Amino acid sequence: MVKRVFQRPLNIIERILFIDFIKGLTVTLKQAFRRTITTHYPYEKLTPPKRFRGFLGHKVIDGREPQPAFNEWVERMKIEVRPGHSRCVVCLLCKRACPVPQLFEIEPEKLPNGKRVIGVFNMNLMLCTFCGLCVDACPVDCLFNSDIHETASYSRKDAILDLKALEEIGRDWQRRREKEEDKIWSDDEHRQRLWYENDVSIR
Ligand code: SF4
Ligand code: SF4
Repeated sequence: MVKRVFQRPLNIIERILFIDFIKGLTVTLKQAFRRTITTHYPYEKLTPPKRFRGFLGHKVIDGREPQPAFNEWVERMKIEVRPGHSRCVVCLLCKRACPVPQLFEIEPEKLPNGKRVIGVFNMNLMLCTFCGLCVDACPVDCLFNSDIHETASYSRKDAILDLKALEEIGRDWQRRREKEEDKIWSDDEHRQRLWYENDVSIR
């Protein structure tokens, strides 16, 4: 059923004095002189907040692994610990949690000493929805979402991240942002610059 909504008819004074027009113009003029909240991308780029879900990466072993979970998984999966390389323990939990598991290609590599390391870890991010389920599933805080969001590429092959690329994203993240406090905005000054501090409508 279509419900018709009628506007209140204007009275004679409102018609003569263009009251509605003046009201609309007042709103327009008020907004026209406020500070802009948009940025001049790509000349001005914002740093996304830490919890932003950008390109995925692998954190590398640097002594900051979650304990005792990391050591337990290393023992259970018979993993050779290589500092500076991916924390991945080849548990496949990320692939199982993913709604599009075919985007993962994960294979362990067996070493002569009987232990294993991650050999192949490819992710086809053309199929990824950046839902973050794989990140939540990773028991050793290896897989994570970075702040990389400029993901356009000239070929489909460039959308497939291999282990080397994932580790590189991880190293960069650990250097730049690992110690940063987790906040929605990069900092409060940043938020206030974009949004008016006293504008309760956007909180
Ligand atoms: S972010 Fe979501 S869709 Fe992308 S790989 Fe992880 S679980 Fe799969
Ligand atoms: S869940 Fe984490 S540790 Fe397990 S295979 Fe995936 S990335 Fe590697």
